[in-house]
Amino acid sequence: MSETIYDLFVIGAGSGGVRAARMSAGFGAKVAIAESRYLGGTCVNVGCVPKKLFSYAAHYREDFNDARGFGWDSAVSDLDWPRLRDNKTKEIERLNGIYGNLLSNAGVELINGHARIVDANTVEVDGHKYIAKNILIAVGGWPFIPDIPGRELAISSNELFYLDTLPKHAVVIGGGYIATEFAGILHGLGIEVEQIYRRDLFLRGFDTEIREQLAEEMTNKGVKLRFNENVTAIAEKDGQYLLTLESGESLLTDKVLYATGRKPLLEGLGLENTKVTLNDKGYIAVNEGFQTCEPSIYAVGDVTGGMELTPVALAEGMNLAKRLFKGDTTVLDYSFIPTAIFSQPNLATVGFSEEDARERFTDIAVYTSRFTHLKHTLSGNKTKTFLKLVVDKASDKVVGAHMMGDDAGEIIQGLAVAIKAGATKADFDSTIGIHPTVAEEFVTMRDATR
Ligand code: NDP
Repeated sequence: MSETIYDLFVIGAGSGGVRAARMSAGFGAKVAIAESRYLGGTCVNVGCVPKKLFSYAAHYREDFNDARGFGWDSAVSDLDWPRLRDNKTKEIERLNGIYGNLLSNAGVELINGHARIVDANTVEVDGHKYIAKNILIAVGGWPFIPDIPGRELAISSNELFYLDTLPKHAVVIGGGYIATEFAGILHGLGIEVEQIYRRDLFLRGFDTEIREQLAEEMTNKGVKLRFNENVTAIAEKDGQYLLTLESGESLLTDKVLYATGRKPLLEGLGLENTKVTLNDKGYIAVNEGFQTCEPSIYAVGDVTGGMELTPVALAEGMNLAKRLFKGDTTVLDYSFIPTAIFSQPNLATVGFSEEDARERFTDIAVYTSRFTHLKHTLSGNKTKTFLKLVVDKASDKVVGAHMMGDDAGEIIQGLAVAIKAGATKADFDSTIGIHPTVAEEFVTMRDATR
């Protein structure tokens, strides 16, 4: 019997890998995919999906309070954490099943086990060797916890999704997406939260004003933000954790959550058997066609260290499938990728921050609006909504849109289409608003603030 030769062997059934596998099979390629953990990868299992479900849960606490001004008296009991956690897990298991069906319906062979590359065209899983014309590495990343004494006492977001009980007090370390989202989620679930970040303001790289607005809102809601601070050691103390801080202070808490970035999951992958190289940050180096230095081996998604976002991995997987099996060599356009942080309140953005736009364009105009959402005129909730547009004066093009407030991700996603298509401020101004909405403010901002 002659040995099967696959057109594509995908390692990792997360967002990028599954998309590439399904599309390639759809184009007639013979495809196998190996997965050692769970179908759907980080996003489905310990990322976007369960995080958003928890984020909804966290918002309810505020919603119950907001309802009072509208005549609804609801007695808020404590959260039934096991119910939330287990309902979430059931939904994730349902999605795992859907991913399995999607792959098998597309004709992709699913192989359970850890894959190791043996040579440029061979992958080994549990002692069995598979030959492939092309190999795709889509193994994603894994949470990174800095090497400090007591690091093993901390948890990452992976474990947080499955806690037996919720702590009374938690410390979240980091100032990126995950730390900021979880500080808000945990606080919303009724936990006292302190977020520690090593520099002067979290969410480095986002528009400064929107970061400041979010810091103010989170503080008003009761999250304790400690900037210019870091943890140097963790120790157990009477059933709690004692954190030693850089400032010399110490802090007692019930749970320590580290969200200090993620690293590519390269261990045991067999890269030493190939010509694949890593870039200076330790991610797999690829060209614009996702090809590594080993011509038959490709990589997409978080393992390549670009924007670590599910829709980016999906787009890369799709681009590669078309490239390999349709002869379409269109280079993926990474401009104006919108992104949201599901903090409390939500924050979303597309395009240039004010600071980046000042460096990139000769002259810019900035429009801002900070106001109380109509809903909160009755709810009594003091939270503010903040919107910002950044315009390149020479072309009149809107080159940045930023929002903090309810449904920011939903609103910015719509605006992203217009901005990517090159909409000008005049186009925004001539668009009639939907009244009364928050989003209409984006088409009624007339006076540049600077
Ligand atoms: P991020 O890269 O967003 O943030 C890491 C944070 O940890 C930064 O604030 C960084 O500080 C800090 N940090 C790094 N090393 C240390 C250290 N040794 N000690 C103290 N602090 C440290 O990573 P996340 O883990 O939050 O998320 C990983 C990626 O997942 C994100 O980049 C994002 O692309 C993706 N993601 C997307 C989400 C979404 O779309 N809503 C949600 C969650 C994750 P500094 O600023 O100084 O570098």
